[in-house]
Amino acid sequence: MPTIAEQARATLKRLVELKLQPTPENYRQVFDSLHQGDGAQTPEPLPGARDWAAALRRLLEQWERSQAGLSQLQKRQQIERLTALPTAQALWAELGQTLDRWSALPARSGSAAASTPIETREAEKSRDGSAWRELWLHTLRHGVQPFCAHDTAQRLLRDLIASADSGAQPSELSPLAREVWLAIDREQTTEDAVRNGLTELVGLLLGHLGDLVPQPWVGVQAAAIREQLHAPLAPERIEQAQNAVRDLLVRHSVLRKSEDDAHSTAKALIDLLVRKLGDYAAEGGEYNQRLEGRLTQLQASREWDEIRRLVQEVLDDSRSMQKRSGELGVHLAEAQRQAQAAQERIRSLEGELEQVSQQLQEDPLTGALNRRGLDAEFARMQSRALRNGQPLSLALLDLDHFKVVNDTYGHDTGDAVLKALVSLATRLVRPSDRVARMGGEEFMLILPDTPVQQSQVVVQRLLMAFSEQTLVQDSTGRRIALSFSAGVGELCPGEDFASVYQRVDAALLQAKQAGRKRVEFATPCEGAKGGGSLPKTALRYFSLRG
Ligand code: GH3
Ligand code: MG
Ligand code: MG
Repeated sequence: MPTIAEQARATLKRLVELKLQPTPENYRQVFDSLHQGDGAQTPEPLPGARDWAAALRRLLEQWERSQAGLSQLQKRQQIERLTALPTAQALWAELGQTLDRWSALPARSGSAAASTPIETREAEKSRDGSAWRELWLHTLRHGVQPFCAHDTAQRLLRDLIASADSGAQPSELSPLAREVWLAIDREQTTEDAVRNGLTELVGLLLGHLGDLVPQPWVGVQAAAIREQLHAPLAPERIEQAQNAVRDLLVRHSVLRKSEDDAHSTAKALIDLLVRKLGDYAAEGGEYNQRLEGRLTQLQASREWDEIRRLVQEVLDDSRSMQKRSGELGVHLAEAQRQAQAAQERIRSLEGELEQVSQQLQEDPLTGALNRRGLDAEFARMQSRALRNGQPLSLALLDLDHFKVVNDTYGHDTGDAVLKALVSLATRLVRPSDRVARMGGEEFMLILPDTPVQQSQVVVQRLLMAFSEQTLVQDSTGRRIALSFSAGVGELCPGEDFASVYQRVDAALLQAKQAGRKRVEFATPCEGAKGGGSLPKTALRYFSLRG
């Protein structure tokens, strides 16, 4: 037979399960439906039905009220605790105390001082309000808090959540919320500064890695990785750069290991040889002594048998010495072979790395230098020209009406034309000259030890050859007329790339405007270092590089 406390607890639980309002009518109905067959109740000294009804009425009243510092959630939790009490007396006492506590709390500001037990629009609004509050709290806890890394923002956010939890009003919460946003903003600004600083630091390290490491291929590959890290940074770019750095480290360690192996092999061989030579020298000393002794005996000897024996001994000794010297020769040859093999292995590894680096500096379509390669070559040739006091010329070439070629004959034919120009240029210029693809159908020739007049002649010759060359398209057999326009200029002492590019680009534009298929001279510079603002075309070059 359940006690009255157990019956009350079961009734309240059922009410919650049925999501029914805890009104006296609902309570009675649920109670009757649950305990009709329970028979007579144990007569315990309990408050009567009237007392329970009054208590329930009070409970409803306080449930509907909006108390300051007491959220709906907290109320529900407290009632939940009541339903777990073991006896009816305990439940009665605890319920009374809970209701006393709730009614002692002042009404929350902005809410009705007291509400009727009947659900009103106000109550509905307050229920909506608490739903919004729950949602807001949920967002703060799960959407904001995990991403606050800094102590201050974390502390302010905890304060805000605690205030919102205890039912504080928006007017009280808004200054706290502002503090939180400001702290997060400060945090974000610091993080941005750290990220930018780190990116710059990595760029600086990669930019100067080539100066720190003697192998030229390391510098080339570091420059390529640095280019991958240009803003805007995206996770894929960072991952690519990480892979490239790992690859660089692996290559470097393979090479170092091979060098180390070669060194230790060489050391071991030298050690062995020195020991063998020592043995050989010692044996040689004994042999000489024995030989001398036998010669003395031989001179003094009169007996044929003794003479024959002595001669035989000398022969045996010299045979054994010959054998030892043969062995030493074999050791020497083996040492030489191993040293050579190690050297070849290192040379081939270095060759492979050089080749990879070269590919990084090459335009894959035409095989000309790419912009990275051009930068490196220009820097090298510029300092050489400065050192030797020799002229250095540059020519900027742009194919004429190339869009028409593409549109008429297709992109593949366009590609073939680009390759043909590079191939022809490489054959017609000196081996020390360089051909680079600036992008699209624009190329740069670098001509060391060449004054500008001579460069103009070279480029003019290339133009004639190129425009006389007929490329026939396989499928249709149509002939394509080709030409380019160019600007040539000579680098002035102390002039940088941007400045000379600006001059030859202006000359190229002139050539285009004058009807194309021609070579124009750049205006000579005034000897000053290129500076000031760059024209759009030069900026385009630099933005392309970015
Ligand atoms: P202009 O004589 O004034 O230089 O005229 P243009 O048609 O040569 O110049 P424009 O800048 O209008 O067009 C350049 C064309 O070059 C457009 C573009 O599709 C083509 N192009 C750029 N890169 C490549 C490439 O790698 N392959 C091919 N086939 N075409 C390219
Ligand atoms: Mg162009
Ligand atoms: Mg063009």
